[in-house]
Amino acid sequence: MASLVDLHLHSTASDGAQTVEDLIGLAAQVGLKTIALTDHDTTAALDQALEIGQRLGLEVIPGVELSSEEDGEVHILGYFIQYKNVAFQKALERFRFLRYGRTQLILEKLAALGMPLEFERVLQIAGDAAPQRPHIAEALKEKGYIQNVSDAFQLYIGNDGPAYVRTEKVTPVEAVELVQSVGGLAVLAHPNYVKNLEQVLPKIVEAGLTGLEVYYGHNSDEEVAYYKALAVQHNLVPTGGSDWHGRDDGGQVYIGERIVPPEVIVQLKARLK
Ligand SMILES: [Zn+2]
Ligand SMILES: [Zn+2]
Repeated sequence: MASLVDLHLHSTASDGAQTVEDLIGLAAQVGLKTIALTDHDTTAALDQALEIGQRLGLEVIPGVELSSEEDGEVHILGYFIQYKNVAFQKALERFRFLRYGRTQLILEKLAALGMPLEFERVLQIAGDAAPQRPHIAEALKEKGYIQNVSDAFQLYIGNDGPAYVRTEKVTPVEAVELVQSVGGLAVLAHPNYVKNLEQVLPKIVEAGLTGLEVYYGHNSDEEVAYYKALAVQHNLVPTGGSDWHGRDDGGQVYIGERIVPPEVIVQLKARLK
């Protein structure tokens, strides 16, 4: 049995391996009826996604996945966003800089110090997470520039090291507010990856969170039941998706493989103002 709904998909506009054309073609092929394209911190593929969806008779919800930080990474999904808003696009630029730009600056500094690294390799090491210093350290070690990961911080990329680049942070509350500012619905992505969920959740609920990603990836029945109860407790819509990145390597859930109840779409739409 395949799902009719998948609300968490990535294309080559961020770190997915499939172009939006191939991705939506595959979505239609596996029998999905409603999908959301949720690239990291960009809406670059949404125009095309909506157009292809219309052509193939598939409902495409304009979405995004924002990277924010509070004791580690917290990802906020935005659905039904009015993404052409100029201020929104300006804000996304900042999210993109924090996600990718800082790493690129660090790599430039390392190259100047005689330790060139491939940006692509650092992205691979990071997986679905935003590339950060531990991933760079790993890449340095892999290239044999250092013996231990801790050397990277001590010698080069630690605070005040010669390849250090200062960062600022966007909080999950800011991410939720940004989604709301363009009429969208904010959903906490993969709560199972959030370090301090008990502290983060009430804050973002207060800020106007609409949903919790309950039917996610490889979540077990027990996990689904747990997060569903949490959603009920905070009056959140239990959403879900595969978090498909276009790589059928056996490690990830295939597009449409995670069953998401279709009534989720009705519940979400009822929350739109
Ligand atoms: Zn994520
Ligand atoms: Zn994702």
